[in-house]
Amino acid sequence: MSVLPLGDGLYEIESASDHTYLVDLEAGRCTCPDHVFRDVRCKHIRRVAIEITHGRTPPPGKLSVTCHDCGETTFVDEDAAEPFYCEAHTIYPGDAVVDRETDDRLTVVDVSELRADAVTISDRETTVADYATNEGYEPDVPVVGAVYPHATVATNGVIPDSLKVYVFPRTRLEKAT
Ligand SMILES: [Zn+2]
Ligand SMILES: [Zn+2]
Repeated sequence: MSVLPLGDGLYEIESASDHTYLVDLEAGRCTCPDHVFRDVRCKHIRRVAIEITHGRTPPPGKLSVTCHDCGETTFVDEDAAEPFYCEAHTIYPGDAVVDRETDDRLTVVDVSELRADAVTISDRETTVADYATNEGYEPDVPVVGAVYPHATVATNGVIPDSLKVYVFPRTRLEKAT
């Protein structure tokens, strides 16, 4: 039996006998005769539950997508926006990342929901997306704020500029391993 998630907690299931049934998992309903006429928890509902338990099909409310960085299949919320990342490639504040342009290592301080084409770089008249070195990256991805790891210390203290937060399109950064 193959299971195809349709979203909204619905699953299409093709039985070995080539019949196609629709399972509504949260309502505990199936369109097969066993369920409709005999009102039993049929093998299709059980099969969908098993597929979810084993991580082979997404639970209700989740979608099956591929990770932007590694191509692995991962489950995300149905209303999540691209780019999608698996758990190993999701970045959080405090994580070390690598700038794909320069190979510099940085530490993430903020993962925004704002898009690169909607955020203006403070001391320049351009958005993050239009900034020259960001041309190769998608304009509609979230921005990530990051700092270079080594603050520069002079005789009279830390140089403020060395603590500056730089803003990158999400896809320019890669989680450091
Ligand atoms: Zn059934
Ligand atoms: Zn990944």
